Amino acid sequence: MAFEGLGERLQATMDRVKSKGKVTESDVKVMMREVRLALLEADVNFKVVKQFINQVRARALGSDVMQSLTPGQQVIKIVKEELTELMGGENQKINLAQKPPTVIMMVGLQGAGKTTTAGKLALHLRKNFNKKPMLVAGDIYRPAAIDQLETVGKQIDVPVFNLGDKVKPQEIATKALTHAKEEHLDTVIIDTAGRLHIDEDLMNELKDIKEISQPDEIMLVVDSMTGQDAVNVAESFNDLLDISGVTLTKLDGDTRGGAALSIRSVTEKPIKFIGVSEKMDGLESFHPDRMAQRILG
Ligand code: GDP
Repeated sequence: MAFEGLGERLQATMDRVKSKGKVTESDVKVMMREVRLALLEADVNFKVVKQFINQVRARALGSDVMQSLTPGQQVIKIVKEELTELMGGENQKINLAQKPPTVIMMVGLQGAGKTTTAGKLALHLRKNFNKKPMLVAGDIYRPAAIDQLETVGKQIDVPVFNLGDKVKPQEIATKALTHAKEEHLDTVIIDTAGRLHIDEDLMNELKDIKEISQPDEIMLVVDSMTGQDAVNVAESFNDLLDISGVTLTKLDGDTRGGAALSIRSVTEKPIKFIGVSEKMDGLESFHPDRMAQRILG
């Protein structure tokens, strides 16, 4: 699971100050150096690390902390609060339309986990919000992607809107919305094409689909195992599409956790979900406070 190394290192650092009856400025300095190294080793973006350290240091050196009866524990509390803030503070829920249908547009690079996450989200919304979802096969460039979405749909018993690979994705989106209204399906989840790299054609197509479908949620799916690349991808997609949320997949295989700690701060967009297995129920709402707690043990 994520944050193995970071968790261990931070916990060791925190253990050293935990029971201190007096914390000096040089204790804080040493501690901040260790936290900084631990974060950099976890592949957290260096600008994010710098800002984080400055914030924690300023608060830790405040007289209310230094003169308190349990300064060690106060410092630990500050680190936890700042980690929570770094990951976005409160849990952010998926945007649902006041008036159906809710339209969710899935975007991301090929292999990030878009198709899988589309299915997971459909299941999540049906289970927890009693929604009637429909999946839309909008990745026409990879025939395997359409088949894969069909398989996912069957697995969770959710209808798939599929016009094959000869119709343009823009038209597929238009027709999918009409179909959903006719069939009284209140949630439309559009799987879009991914590429190995961000290119202009892909982005123009995504912009068109956004324009046509007016999504309530543009969910960027990124692979946490790609670390800072995931952060760069998030930045690019956000610049071009103004995304509304991020799902960070494969956290079960990511031992460092750098993307989880950097994405919010770099893009100012919330991580709403995390993928924790290949299975359809392997999706969890992202709670920054719980994650911070997990990191600090
Ligand atoms: P797409 O190209 O973006 O649509 O990516 P896919 O949905 O096809 O996913 C690519 C691979 O990643 C597949 O083998 C998925 O089973 C796997 N995958 C997706 N999400 C997760 C996750 O959260 N954890 C794990 N372990 N595997 C995942």
